[in-house]
Amino acid sequence: MSCDYNALANEGVQNLQPYQAGKPTSELERELGLTNIVKLASNENPLGLSPKVKAALLELLELPANDEGVARYPDSNGFYLKSALADKLGCEAGQITLGNGSNDVLEILARTFVNESHEVIFSEHAFVVYPLVTLAIGATPVAVPAKVYGHDLEAMAAAISDKTKMIFIANPNNPTGTFLEQEELAAFLAKVPETVIVVLDEAYYEYVADEEKAPSVEWLKLYPNLVVSRTFSKAYGLAGLRVGYAVSSVEIADLLNRVRQPFNCNSMSLAAAQAVLADSDYLAESVAVNNQGMEQLTKGFDALGLAYIPSKGNFITVDVNQSGAEVYQRLLHEGVIVRPIGGYGLPNHLRVSIGTASENARLLEALNKVL
Ligand SMILES: *Cc1c(COP(=O)(O)O)cnc(C)c1O
Repeated sequence: MSCDYNALANEGVQNLQPYQAGKPTSELERELGLTNIVKLASNENPLGLSPKVKAALLELLELPANDEGVARYPDSNGFYLKSALADKLGCEAGQITLGNGSNDVLEILARTFVNESHEVIFSEHAFVVYPLVTLAIGATPVAVPAKVYGHDLEAMAAAISDKTKMIFIANPNNPTGTFLEQEELAAFLAKVPETVIVVLDEAYYEYVADEEKAPSVEWLKLYPNLVVSRTFSKAYGLAGLRVGYAVSSVEIADLLNRVRQPFNCNSMSLAAAQAVLADSDYLAESVAVNNQGMEQLTKGFDALGLAYIPSKGNFITVDVNQSGAEVYQRLLHEGVIVRPIGGYGLPNHLRVSIGTASENARLLEALNKVL
């Protein structure tokens, strides 16, 4: 007789649904025998790797055996990357916690502060990793109904109870692209008790126009319970290398660094992140291509008579007026991978990452055909 291992698993884990990642290009190639596939499903940077990153990685691979190459353990403290980030952000290196992508940071945060007796607040239609990390711990997720597809900060503040330990806010939000103005956010932060950790997930921060960017790192001086998380996966083009980070008070960073796996960022990731951080041309081009692509897609959706949710990210969520899952399937047959978001409570929407001009054109053409 075999044992029921599901029943043996922690209660929160028994009901977990695994994260549904965007379909890899190679998988669609295998399944449908297609080539020339366009993937606009995971909000990756369509420009590919910065040439400076490529050079830094090759240099690392060529290091002699007695040097700090990839045969050695990486620098557990990520000294050079943290120093460069601290310079750029205007904070101390001791305020930074590095992660294997910012998903890692989000999980470290939850594991550091949240236990089974706690509640964790986030918004409806917000990033699925928030309920995932909450449920895995056995804590109680509190999903607050959205306001026009975005965060309803008043309702989120009203949802705070004695049990609330953490609040996740994605700004811009994924998958809806909605954005909270800094005044609204500051007013919210001022309302939250200092005993509740507020995680401001700014994965798409670099795409926000400079005049609209919140001074979130400066806010750390005002709000000791604030933690800002960012990533190298999107505008910096390193999704496959997995580097993200949290900026917080030194005290919170010290706690997070106790929970973090000692080598959660590998040598390649550290070198790549450091190199791309110094490549302001790459970042500027990424943002420019994104702005152009956003215009191209919104105009294209207008022409197709499709409504969309205005987005400040590198993706846009469009209402296809019918089952998104079905349109997604039809698009796959046209060699275009997007993201159905029924799991986010938006069954008639598709999330489309902004690609290059020709990729965006392929998507619009394919949509026109399948609708
Ligand atoms: C993409 C994304 C992240 C970043 O994930 P990584 O683990 O850094 O690749 C974090 N938060 C949100 C809301 C995202 O959309």
